Amino acid sequence: MYDVEEIRLDFPILGREVNGEPLVYLDNGASAQKPQVVIDAVTRAYSQEYSNVHRGLHYLSNLATERYEAVRGTIARFLNAGAADEIVMNSGTTEGINTVAYSWAMPRMEAGDEIVLSVMEHHANIVPWHFLRERQGVVLKWVEVDETGALAPERILDAIGPRTRLVAVTHLSNVLGTRVDVTSICRGAQEAGVPVLVDGSQGAVHMPVDVQDIGCDFYAITGHKLYGPSGSGAIYIRKERQAEMRPFMGGGDMIRDVRRDEITWAEPPMKFEAGTPGIVQQIGLGVALDYLMELGMENVARHEARLCDYLRSRIDGLNWLNVQGTTPDKAAIFSFTLDGAAHAHDISTVLDKKGVAVRAGHHCAQPLMEHYGITASARASFGLYNTEADVDTLVEALELCRELFG
Ligand code: PLP
Repeated sequence: MYDVEEIRLDFPILGREVNGEPLVYLDNGASAQKPQVVIDAVTRAYSQEYSNVHRGLHYLSNLATERYEAVRGTIARFLNAGAADEIVMNSGTTEGINTVAYSWAMPRMEAGDEIVLSVMEHHANIVPWHFLRERQGVVLKWVEVDETGALAPERILDAIGPRTRLVAVTHLSNVLGTRVDVTSICRGAQEAGVPVLVDGSQGAVHMPVDVQDIGCDFYAITGHKLYGPSGSGAIYIRKERQAEMRPFMGGGDMIRDVRRDEITWAEPPMKFEAGTPGIVQQIGLGVALDYLMELGMENVARHEARLCDYLRSRIDGLNWLNVQGTTPDKAAIFSFTLDGAAHAHDISTVLDKKGVAVRAGHHCAQPLMEHYGITASARASFGLYNTEADVDTLVEALELCRELFG
């Protein structure tokens, strides 16, 4: 039984006030709050178990290595990867996608080759591909979403041509809450011989993920949205793709042998993990993922779906509120603008006075803003600890905005 009031007690920050009001944290899409078990794990790692990993032979180094390496297995379980060594640990989705761009895409793409991506990608899944466009003449083929913000798999598959070398697509839009049927995309792309990278930054937070079932080649996650520390993360890279990749960053830990005029690499995944990693961040991420798996991602998804339905029922009929993204099965991420002159920043400021934390701006998704003909929106993004009372406070604060801004 999913007892949200009990769960809230695990997150100490939810007990605080902001601007004299109880905090209503609805900025989970940007970064989620941390349960006490994660905070404790980070404290314990630094106060009792800290050392560098991999290189030492002493007790603490072995212990830290054991703790750190165990997280690889935890991430593999969370994503249902076939093997722990298909998990490359890193600082988050941005690093994961850049790894694919530099290690896999750059060496194998030529001028005129194409990457297919949707207009609702986060900049993290756009800018690395622009590097290839600028530097190597790679063509970016953009796929539009429909008027509800949905992305039918056929739209992506229809965009695949003989020069397409990669599909890069989000599992769940950080702006619209749209879920993408990446399984169908992967199936179709595979038939065409085109690998698929899935940006799982938001998807992995709001629903169970099974990378084997999805059939993707790359799946990037970011720890701080998964209730873990910032600077933690990972990318699942299917074995066949790993074999095609050259290292992106060079340094310690990723080599087998370094001579004056010769170098050999460590086996993957170490080959893609140069330098001292975010040891404690990853240890915290492992604890966060255990916490999520204990709650059950299907239970988290069900709870958030209830919140989503409740919010829809509360705003139904508020004709001054324009919500971007209205697919029936969307996640509880609501971007909106208000009729009249209110800028998203003004909305966010008024909400903040009521203790409600939302994000305002382009949400690192400028091509999507362009698609909607806006420059910014406010975004309320819900997490596993939010409640119907949070929805009520949000709606009351929005009504106040409406009064203030006409
Ligand atoms: N992709 C999506 C869909 C996101 O929402 C985000 C973060 O907002 C990212 C990628 C980038 O994540 P990070 O900044 O943690 O690397």
